[in-house]
Order: sequence, then C-alpha cells, then structure tokens
Amino acid sequence: MTAPATCQIPLPSGGPCGIPAIGRCINDERAFCISHRANNYGRPYDNLCTECERQQLHDRHAQRQTEAQSLEDARKRIKAAATRLDNNPRAPEPHPRYKLVGWHSRGIIGALTRAEPRPKLEALDPAWIVGRYKWNQQEFRARPDLDTYDTGVTSAGEVVPIGNPPTYTVHAVKGLHRPHDIFEVAEAIEKLAGM
Ligand SMILES: [Zn+2]
Ligand SMILES: [Zn+2]
Repeated sequence: MTAPATCQIPLPSGGPCGIPAIGRCINDERAFCISHRANNYGRPYDNLCTECERQQLHDRHAQRQTEAQSLEDARKRIKAAATRLDNNPRAPEPHPRYKLVGWHSRGIIGALTRAEPRPKLEALDPAWIVGRYKWNQQEFRARPDLDTYDTGVTSAGEVVPIGNPPTYTVHAVKGLHRPHDIFEVAEAIEKLAGM
C-alpha cells in the first residue's frame, strides 16, 4: 500500500486539503496532514484524522445523553410507582427509617450498671425495600463490605440506602455505585406497586 503524498481531508470549501500527508486514518483510511491529525486534547494520535475524532466525540456525547435520559426515565417510573403505592391502602407497609442524631445520656444509674447507650433517633420518610445495592461512600471506608445496603424507595420516589442497624439511615453515601442499578430498582418498585 502506498501512502498518498497529500492530505485527503476535505476543506470547508469542498476540495481536499492537499498539503503533504504525515499519516493515514485507521478509521476512514484517508491520508492526513499535520493539521488534520486528531489532536486528542493536545496528545495527537498517530492514526486518526480530525474528522473521525470529531465524529467520535459527537457519538460519545450523544451516547452519554441517551444514557442520562434513560436514567432520568427510570427515576420518573420510580416516582410514579411510589405515588401509586402511597395511594394504595392495601400496599405493604414501608420500612421505618431513622436518622441517628446522637446518644441519650446514660445518667448515673446507666453509668453504674454499664447499660448500653440508647441512640437518639429522628424519624424520616419510610421506604419500601427493593433490594440490596452497593452505594458510593462519601468517605473512605476501610471495610468495603459496609457499602452494600438494603435499598428502599420513599413515597416521594427517592431511592435511599437503609443503614445498619437496619433502622438507621445511612448518610455517608453519595448514590448508587452502579447507576444502572436504578433500572432494577424501577422494576422492583413497579412490581411491588402491581404495575
Ligand atoms: Zn490536511
Ligand atoms: Zn478519519
């Protein structure tokens, strides 16, 4: 195979660029010059032209948008199912959730008897448990098994981790570790809602 001597990438005016080529695109097999070589944010490729790079960036962007859209759709389905459950008097009871806000003072008796301190809890929206999923931790945790939680959906359609002990809500989490688990959550809550 002989490399054409000149760049085959079309100019906005129509014809090929035509200046001496330095490489050939692995994707569309056209020869390209130094200014039509894919630049990869300052780290040029040896074998990709600017046209194909632009197309790839465009495709990747479109794919990300499609993904974002389907995650958004799943969240809407979850909200609809939660509303339906909330309005159905025969729906199963959601699991109670509490936030741990501190500990009750043990007092003198407690201190003398070495009673277990009692947690101070604040009630939060209960949630229907739909499975067990990995959540991203806000902080580094030395025990990775701690990041898998029973996962629930509140009547407002919020997807929440349920802590350990099971009634304490987990706060140090940033969201589902695998965003695509949301699809399973949507299916589970829809099933529970009889949809
Ligand atoms: Zn060129
Ligand atoms: Zn190309």
